[in-house]
This record gives sequence, structure tokens and C-alpha cells, in this order.
Amino acid sequence: MNYKSFQDISLSGLGMGNMRLPVQGDKAGAPIDRVRAQEIIDYAMENGINYYDTAYVYHGGESEKFLGEAMKKYPRESYHLATKYLVFVNPDYRAVFEEQLARLQTDYIDFYLLHGINDEHCQSYLNNGCIEYLLEQKKAGRIRYLGFSAHASVDTLTRAADHHQWDFAQIQLNYYDWKYGNAAKEYKVLEERNIPIMVMEPVRGGRLANLSSEAVQMLKEAHPDWSMASWALRWVKRLPQVQVILSGMSNMEQIRDNVKTFQEPEGLTDADAELLMKACEAFKNQICVPCTACRYCCDDCPKKINIPACLEIYNGYKTDGPWVLGRLNSIDSEGKPSDCIGCGACAGHCPQSIRIPEIMSELAGLSEKK
Ligand code: SF4
Ligand code: SF4
Repeated sequence: MNYKSFQDISLSGLGMGNMRLPVQGDKAGAPIDRVRAQEIIDYAMENGINYYDTAYVYHGGESEKFLGEAMKKYPRESYHLATKYLVFVNPDYRAVFEEQLARLQTDYIDFYLLHGINDEHCQSYLNNGCIEYLLEQKKAGRIRYLGFSAHASVDTLTRAADHHQWDFAQIQLNYYDWKYGNAAKEYKVLEERNIPIMVMEPVRGGRLANLSSEAVQMLKEAHPDWSMASWALRWVKRLPQVQVILSGMSNMEQIRDNVKTFQEPEGLTDADAELLMKACEAFKNQICVPCTACRYCCDDCPKKINIPACLEIYNGYKTDGPWVLGRLNSIDSEGKPSDCIGCGACAGHCPQSIRIPEIMSELAGLSEKK
């Protein structure tokens, strides 16, 4: 296992995320399969992972309880616990903190985070007194390090980061969001303030473990033994401000593969990193449509469908998953994809030769399934 110093301790490069633990059956919200989850935790401990991340709300509160039980057989000083306070689920930070200590069966939390600061809730976190209270708990030794996690705009992240000298922060960071999202800007905000970064979603919720055929071929030619997830983790590992890379491991195959990645001293060369970005581009081009929102297709649509807005959602669905489809209900469009009659009046105008009627039909089918 690779380790990095953090203040007066040493943290494993790979951290165990406890938000996607194996569950009984395949229904969302099913109880944690404690036997399989314990097997993963034991493997993590045996292989030197010493950072365990959970939150008040993961698995409906059961993740903290599970972790409290699962870690009981290990000396408390042999691992570090991270958990989080989410303001809009229960604003009573005092009660939440006490409940978390009880659930985790401990009298201190190593890494405590304000959970998921975003544009909507940033001010509540900064104003409701929780930070002052948590700093007191830190002084009392009940919290060792205080930080925050964020899914926010760069401006909001900056505002949160400037509040005081945080011990650490957690952001979504992976090569795809670096190239196409705000990850590079967010990294810079934290790097400039010398705030160590705990990384979430290094494999983008698993999306980067399943690249398009062309991208897979490019990467397999360079390193036949590396999984796609391993490429993603190795890329994040290169960044000097990164402290721990969290992975929500749900089965033994994933943890074995991830541990292997963190056992090898070998990282990505500059040539590998360049290739990965080319593969990333090929992946995006293969799964997304290249709509430029020129709107040449819109005027002749008899159903008044806002075609570029629908295509933006289609691309979001391809890269981020089915949850993006929910946005179809709120776009500014008289017609919906399900109104499309396949007349083709749009397609002839498209300079990008996008197969608009086919995509409308696919979107209509997908929204029916939801
Ligand atoms: S094919 Fe569908 S989207 Fe295109 S013009 Fe006809 S109704 Fe509109
Ligand atoms: S014409 Fe093509 S590129 Fe332009 S908005 Fe319509 S679909 Fe997008």
C-alpha cells in the first residue's frame, strides 16, 4: 500500500468508501449484506487501508452502524474514521454528532466533514454555528481533523475554503471531470490554500470503469494488465495535492483490483497520461452526440421540440447515468421526445449529421421506463 504523511500521521493512498456496500438482493435501499461487507473491510485492513469514510445518511444510517460493528475487532488506533454532518437532513449538529459517536462505537472521530456543501446550502453551514461547535469538539479531542466535502460551483467552493484554515477537503476528482468539468479549477482553489484533498468519485461512480470499445482498445494496447478503473486511480494518484483516494468498493473483485493498483509503485508516465486524455476524448465522442446548440433544426419541427436541450440531456444520460433523464420534465420545450413523429424535418438541417429522430425515439423509450 502507498502511504502519504498527513500532519502527524500517515494515511493510505486508497481509502475505503462505505456508501456502496454490498446489499441483500438488488433492490435500492436493501439492507447491507453484513457478511460480504465485513469480508471487504477485513481485506482492506489486511492490506493496509487505514482510512474509512462514511456519513450520517449512507445506507439510510446503517453504514455508520455497520462500520462501528465491523471495526470493533481492530485496535482503534490502527484505522481512521471519517464521517459527515448533512445540514438539511437534521440541522441539530450537536445531536447528530453524539448519535454518530454512538453508531460508530467510538469516543472520537478522526476526520469530520460538513457534508456536500453546495450552492444552496453553503450559507447554512457557514451561519448555523456548526463550524464553531465542531471546532470546540476538535479542541476537546473528540474530532481530530475538520474538513468539508463539496459538490459546488467554483465560487461557492472558494467561499467555503476561505472560511478558515481547514485540515482537508473532499471533492469529486477524476480525469473526465478534469477535462470536461470543473475539477481542475476546484483542485487549484484547494491547492492554492494548501488544503489536502480527499478524492471522491475517482472512477466517476463506476462510469470510467466501462469505457467505449475504442477507448478500451487504446488503453489495453499500452498496458494490457491494467483495468479501466486502475487507469482512473493512477491518474488521480499523480496529483501532488491529493491525500487519500476514496473508492466505494462493493465486492471483492473491486477491492482486490484497487489494492493491487496501490501496491505498485508504478504510476502513470506523462505519455500514459496523454494517452488517457485521448482515450477520454474518444470515449466522449463515441457515446455523445456533437450538438453545438446552433438550433438550425428547431424551426421546422412540427412538434416544437427543443431539440438541443433534449440532446444535452441525452449526453448527460450517456456520461452521468439515468438520473439525468429526470431533467426532461423541466426543460423549456413545448414538445417532448415522446411527441416526435419521426418526420425527419430536423435532421436535414443539422451540420453535425446527428440522427435526431432516432435519438428522440430512444429518449422517449427511456423516459417511459423511468
Ligand atoms: S423528427 Fe421529431 S424532432 Fe425532428 S422535426 Fe420531426 S417531430 Fe421534430
Ligand atoms: S442542428 Fe444539429 S447541432 Fe444544431 S442544434 Fe440541431 S441537433 Fe444540435
